Amino acid sequence: MLAQRGYSVAMLDRAQFPRKKLCGGLLTWKSVKLLETVFGEDVDSLVQSGVINHVSNHYAIRSYVNTLAEGELPFPFHFVDRTVFDDHLLSHAKRAGAEVFEGAKIVSCDPIEGLVTLENGDVFEGEYIIGADGANSVIRNSFPNYDRKRFKEFMAPAIEISLSPSDFPRPVEFPELIVGFMDAGYGWVFPNRDRVVVGICGLRRNNVNFSKLFSDYLDFLKIDKAVVSGLHGHPLPYGNFLENPVYGKTLLAGDAAGYVEPLFGEGLFFAMATGLYSSEAIAEGLAKKISPGPAYSQRVHQQIIPELKASNRLRWLLFKGMKLAGPRSLGLFVNAGAWKLAEMVHGIRSYSWLRKKRWDFL
Ligand SMILES: Cc1cc2nc3c(=O)[nH]c(=O)nc-3n(C[C@H](O)[C@H](O)[C@H](O)COP(=O)(O)OP(=O)(O)OC[C@H]3O[C@@H](n4cnc5c(N)ncnc54)[C@H](O)[C@@H]3O)c2cc1C
Repeated sequence: MLAQRGYSVAMLDRAQFPRKKLCGGLLTWKSVKLLETVFGEDVDSLVQSGVINHVSNHYAIRSYVNTLAEGELPFPFHFVDRTVFDDHLLSHAKRAGAEVFEGAKIVSCDPIEGLVTLENGDVFEGEYIIGADGANSVIRNSFPNYDRKRFKEFMAPAIEISLSPSDFPRPVEFPELIVGFMDAGYGWVFPNRDRVVVGICGLRRNNVNFSKLFSDYLDFLKIDKAVVSGLHGHPLPYGNFLENPVYGKTLLAGDAAGYVEPLFGEGLFFAMATGLYSSEAIAEGLAKKISPGPAYSQRVHQQIIPELKASNRLRWLLFKGMKLAGPRSLGLFVNAGAWKLAEMVHGIRSYSWLRKKRWDFL
């Protein structure tokens, strides 16, 4: 967005693209709408270019004992492979004129002066910095003013594997969530064109042993462990979103600021939306010669934080309900208003009282 408007943009990433990123790759309605707005891409173009590789109108929520809810969706879930998806978006940025530095690992940042230092000693200076370096953000760590203990406490370990469909004991056509086997978390089985994605994530409460939990989960799914080549983990911000994503000349976006929806762990939309909001604030700030921080903060507080807070309240209600009354309580809750709840997950409705959500980028 900034490059399109003629600003000089350097994108620094420690990886070489295309690179892997552990992720289920599920896109909701609001993600698809954002891709239309920012990149001019719609479902058809993304399917044609092979970026969207599976579409599903159906979902199921299960416990280890039975199916709790199952049904049709008001808008399909779309699935991407992050290696392909991220590389596709990066090529958009390159075409817009952004200069991309791959293999550029940032080791420190001066958020006041707008400086970042790479592992090889190179220093980059920007009028502004957007810190979008993920859950273990080096840029965030340079902020002196956030609650590190709380951020760590609400960082969820996630484990995910990909299997060939022939190694999964049954066909998987639609996404399945599996609940009730940990206090504050869940598992998923997601379809894809040529693989099945199986994962778990949750808060590390009561010293839960994640490897054991995952092993039991594979047993429940009847997956032959001999076909699992290796376990991969990545932290997921899960309720630790920052109220203040700005310090000096530096704005945090996406996982770096903990902007992940704390019930289902949707992060792609929030990363793309805060990427857009921070860029637009900087463009406006440069044009008007004012600091972009207040405008970015205000937009995040209007559009993003209320959703994350409402989702956080709902998750504790549902997780506590399941602890007291068993997973059946979640089934009763979902079945009482399945269509509207699906609209909430998609972002057609708000997590706050299921009101119609008005996204300001549409
Ligand atoms: C197992 C798992 C499954 C998930 N499934 C889904 C899902 O189905 N749908 C969904 O919406 N969300 C999902 N999420 C969440 C989603 O993956 C994240 O919210 C999203 O990737 C955040 O994007 P980001 O750009 O902020 O960070 P990232 O995607 O993590 O990107 C950060 C980038 O910064 C680079 N970087 C990191 N450190 C440095 C450094 N020091 N110097 C330079 N570069 C650096 C990395 O190489 C990377 O390219 C899942 C997460 C996990 C862990």
